[in-house]
Amino acid sequence: MGIPVRQAVRLGTYLAKQKVRGQQKFPLIVELEPLFACNLKCAGCGKIQHPASILKQRMPVEQAVGAIEESGAPMVSIAGGEPLMHPQIDEIVRQLVKRRKFVYLCTNAVLLPRHLHKFEPSPYFSWVVHIDGLRERHDRSVSKQGVFDAAIAAVKEAKARGFTVNTNTTFFNTDTPQTVIEVLDYLNDDLGVDQMQISPGYAYEKAPDQDHFLGVQETRELFAKAFADGRRRRWRLNHSPLFLDFLEGRAEFECTAWGIPSYSLFGWQRPCYLLGDGYAKTYKELVETTDWSAYGRGRDPRCSNCMAHCGYEPTAVLATMGSLRESLRALREG
Ligand code: SF4
Ligand code: SF4
Repeated sequence: MGIPVRQAVRLGTYLAKQKVRGQQKFPLIVELEPLFACNLKCAGCGKIQHPASILKQRMPVEQAVGAIEESGAPMVSIAGGEPLMHPQIDEIVRQLVKRRKFVYLCTNAVLLPRHLHKFEPSPYFSWVVHIDGLRERHDRSVSKQGVFDAAIAAVKEAKARGFTVNTNTTFFNTDTPQTVIEVLDYLNDDLGVDQMQISPGYAYEKAPDQDHFLGVQETRELFAKAFADGRRRRWRLNHSPLFLDFLEGRAEFECTAWGIPSYSLFGWQRPCYLLGDGYAKTYKELVETTDWSAYGRGRDPRCSNCMAHCGYEPTAVLATMGSLRESLRALREG
């Protein structure tokens, strides 16, 4: 994974411990969703479709921290909804950082300037700002004008105050290699964010806009062209080289959704945050009571077009850590 050395060492130690214990399935990152409410209404979002009674709920701090502790995951990605609408989000982050978890706080950044003073820069804490394209494309994606400019101003302010700031960009079939290049060049070179995460959009069953998601072949062509001419190596992408190989069709993997599980107000989501085949009360119960062999491409039609980070990055990370050559490549390219 293109991650700082401190984190790579911690992850390596964690993986070695799982091996010694003979643990076959364990989480690398938990996707924590302490609320589903959001201040935006993006066309592709499957979270804000929940009924009002669910949208007004907020997960208590103890429940959020307890779930992460039970799972044992070394990294947590907090999303939602918009986490900055949770009145105790700063306390959730503080408690997790205190436990030396690497915390990524995902936000659309509209509320970020108002809440920045509640957080402290730390090697264990990164903002992850959602930016789907340059101004016109991003504002269209979030269905509101002015959000791109607000997000960019927030990124600059957070960087100026010493925070690590990453971005997450979702690409749809309305993107071309050129739009991918333009936005990643801008984030990497002009804005100078620390790292960038990229996702091919997945057609959530709940998402209102089902027409604009990428199929496997389209995804591969899009990324192969965008990554060409040395751009992939130049961009500070927060992914393992093998996952990037997978995105551009140079590697094939099975889904290992237990590696990036999702914990929300409903519990541990089965089998991943994209599908909703029920919930478990604990990570242990999720692992033990899910038929993992029923999921993945060729097994479940809902998985046919999925190339999501939550299913395939864990496979790539495990393949990286299991190979000296790939580990060295990850450190070199990270
Ligand atoms: S900002 Fe994120 S959570 Fe909010 S509507 Fe958009 S995709 Fe959904
Ligand atoms: S292939 Fe994708 S949708 Fe299917 S279980 Fe894996 S991560 Fe979830």
